[in-house]
Amino acid sequence: MSFHNYPIIAIGASIASISFIRTLRENGDARQVLLIHGEDRLPYKRTKINKNMVRGFDKDEFKIADEKWYKDNDVILLFDRVINIDSAEKMISTKSGKVFSYGKLLLATGAASVVPKLTGIEQNEIYGVQNAYDVDQVLEACADKERFLIIGGGVEGVETADQLIRKGKQVILASRMKQPLQRLFPESLLNVLVEKMLARDVKLFSGVSVTSVYKKNDAYSVNIQGQELEFDAIIACTGAIPNVELAVKADLKVERGIVVDEYLQTSDKDILAAGDVAQHARGVITGLWHAAEHQGKLAALNVLGLPEEHKLPPYRLKTEVFGLFMFSAGYESVIPGQQELIEEEDRDIHRFMYYAGGKLMSAVFINDKERAKTYQQGLFEQWDKNKVKEKLPLPLSSGFSFSLG
Ligand SMILES: Cc1cc2nc3c(=O)[nH]c(=O)nc-3n(C[C@H](O)[C@H](O)[C@H](O)COP(=O)(O)OP(=O)(O)OC[C@H]3O[C@@H](n4cnc5c(N)ncnc54)[C@H](O)[C@@H]3O)c2cc1C
Repeated sequence: MSFHNYPIIAIGASIASISFIRTLRENGDARQVLLIHGEDRLPYKRTKINKNMVRGFDKDEFKIADEKWYKDNDVILLFDRVINIDSAEKMISTKSGKVFSYGKLLLATGAASVVPKLTGIEQNEIYGVQNAYDVDQVLEACADKERFLIIGGGVEGVETADQLIRKGKQVILASRMKQPLQRLFPESLLNVLVEKMLARDVKLFSGVSVTSVYKKNDAYSVNIQGQELEFDAIIACTGAIPNVELAVKADLKVERGIVVDEYLQTSDKDILAAGDVAQHARGVITGLWHAAEHQGKLAALNVLGLPEEHKLPPYRLKTEVFGLFMFSAGYESVIPGQQELIEEEDRDIHRFMYYAGGKLMSAVFINDKERAKTYQQGLFEQWDKNKVKEKLPLPLSSGFSFSLG
């Protein structure tokens, strides 16, 4: 069989792969890259898709790079899905029947949303927000549906609820967690969010597990905590799991994600993995845009023979929902009682700063949007309390001007 050989192939065309290619080019590596993209449009900023449902978006509006960038950088962007990797022969095969061999392979296949199995509804009737195509489907549904049940109280669930409410829809949000965004913020900050959600008429149910719904003519109903609630469409925001099937076929070491070392190397010397599919030390899967971007860069430095160790810096999640700006970084590493906490409030800003050994290791706050980059810098540089006081004073001096987003 004849097949084309590429020195470098990247599977999954999102931020980890694009950052990988950018870094190769920035360092003078001109080897042609085959980038295999399993979606229906140019690689795009996934973080934008569910945050722009109110106004909708054009197909390539959130593209990371235009077609010219791929051409200029000698990247062959192939719209196809890889179905197998033969790591012994260093070959991959695609759904459309193509076969390629590689010198180095980057697996950046990200994560797929978990679609819950509920009695009373087929899985293909459940909407999601993982890909731009999925969000297109939700927007289409919005044309003739008014009442939505969202399952899941993580960021995607709360952001989607916010967007639907802003679109004038009715929203029921049901989550297993005690409070939405529980893994990212302390309870007192979440009380502020919950109040705002209730004020916008979100029917919020926490600590519940939806397992069945009932079809009622063209609509559905669900029984939650003894209440019978009707809705027209269901959206699952129930988390995502790393797309590891290819890695399993390639006989790589896989646990929850593809196990990588601090240089993004998998258990095969010619295969790297980066982004949401990669599992790092202590079982960490990052699940954040800037973390995936950073890992793509480090994977490229490895390929270039300029290895730089991945230290899992505390990337932040920021979101603007229900009139609040919310920022969380490093909170997953906070063990109550083990770090020094300084909690401060001024006007509508409320922040929790956690210090380990006198160094800033986590910052969690609402409504200090203009200084978000300074907080990120403080975390990366592990400022001490004096530096935080100097650079991020609270209370704000009366001369400090700010406006809420
Ligand atoms: C709705 C939503 C909102 C988000 N908001 C934020 C946010 O505000 N801030 C933040 O930091 N993070 C956010 N995230 C997470 C962030 O988007 C991810 O961390 C980031 O996109 C991970 O990038 P990645 O390169 O690892 O892969 P992904 O972006 O997951 O992309 C992987 C790609 O690989 C493709 N693929 C998989 N298998 C194959 C195959 N066999 N063949 C070909 N292609 C394949 C997939 O189709 C996909 O296109 C959000 C995620 C979602 C879903």
